Amino acid sequence: MSIVSNTLKRIKPSPTIAVTSKAREMRAAGKDVIGLGAGEPDFDTPDNIKEAAIVAINKGDTKYTAVDGTPALKKAIQAKFKRENNLSYDINQITVGTGGKQVLYNAFMATVNKGDEVIIPAPYWVSYPDIILLAGGKPKIVKCEEKDNFKISPSKLKKAISKKTKWIILNSPSNPTGSSYTKAEIKDLAEVLKKYKNIYILSDDIYEHITYDNFEFSTIAEIKELKSRTLTMNGVSKSYSMTGWRIGYAAGPVEIIKAISKIQSQSTSNPSSISQAAAVEALNGVQDFILERSNSFKERRDFVIESLNNIKGISCLKPEGAFYVFPNCKNLLNKTTKLKSDTDFVQSLLEKANVAVVQGSAFGLPGYFRISYATSMENLKKAMERIKNFCDNL
Ligand code: PLP
Repeated sequence: MSIVSNTLKRIKPSPTIAVTSKAREMRAAGKDVIGLGAGEPDFDTPDNIKEAAIVAINKGDTKYTAVDGTPALKKAIQAKFKRENNLSYDINQITVGTGGKQVLYNAFMATVNKGDEVIIPAPYWVSYPDIILLAGGKPKIVKCEEKDNFKISPSKLKKAISKKTKWIILNSPSNPTGSSYTKAEIKDLAEVLKKYKNIYILSDDIYEHITYDNFEFSTIAEIKELKSRTLTMNGVSKSYSMTGWRIGYAAGPVEIIKAISKIQSQSTSNPSSISQAAAVEALNGVQDFILERSNSFKERRDFVIESLNNIKGISCLKPEGAFYVFPNCKNLLNKTTKLKSDTDFVQSLLEKANVAVVQGSAFGLPGYFRISYATSMENLKKAMERIKNFCDNL
């Protein structure tokens, strides 16, 4: 009998991390692989943030902190929500964890009972269903189509709700599609959710600052009737190029915030004291580089979209945010190409053209693949040429 628990057998390792590892292995074996699989900005953490961490080390901020965040960081988060989202929270409505991923994990561990359903619009971020399974819940996957910009509609949402629905997860801008809900679309979804008073909403806003063409970011906690049952998760990983520092946070109902802290107190305790000091500077310091970096991302997005749409057999929507695109490769899956699925496509692209991307089925929507354009224009130009050559020669 295996030592591994039955709970663990229900889940799979992150497929996006798997692609990145495979690309790394190929590179180590001397292959010139271009990785478009990773979900992190290629920019460095800004100097003022690094400096704040160095000051914290020298000052001796090297001890345990409060389990769910230092008072200074909670205050910075409170101010951020007020400044950027016009949302008011008390300090005891805020929690800090080791990355947004830990905050989500703790939130679901703390609230999901066996058999509870969690509505997850697909394509989704790979970790949502597995976290729900680990918590003993049932992911209720709702497929969202390309013609709807991969977004859930109010009618689809309504249909997915049952007596067992405990949560719905909304992620905008989205990983893996970059699609983002407008204020009006959020309002329409909210109209449905207002009627189901036992359902909680997890809003994953981690890509909030990466939007284009004057898109106006908005989040569901702004709807006053829903604020008391919305947990809004965010973090410094993507906005401030701080993926390795591991700081994420959430604001919402006191009961959930307390429950998250209880789990954290018996697992990891506080996130790194140094990273927390750096995150205070990220949130309170100058914000100019966010716009500068968004401009670079926009240039890359536009280039990638144009290149992809010039490849026979591929088509791709232009998303409003994040640093991903989600091209359709269904026309290339047939007898002539001998590719049966998006997984075949992605594997063959990696082996024959040395370009690493992630298959759409990993995100719950086969027939597509995800490109992360958080890499240099030079890499993107080479990658787009390789993808074109690969597709033209299928
Ligand atoms: N949510 C989404 C949609 C993500 O793409 C990620 C990271 O890839 C996270 C949450 C978690 O980010 P972190 O744990 O680095 O804060």
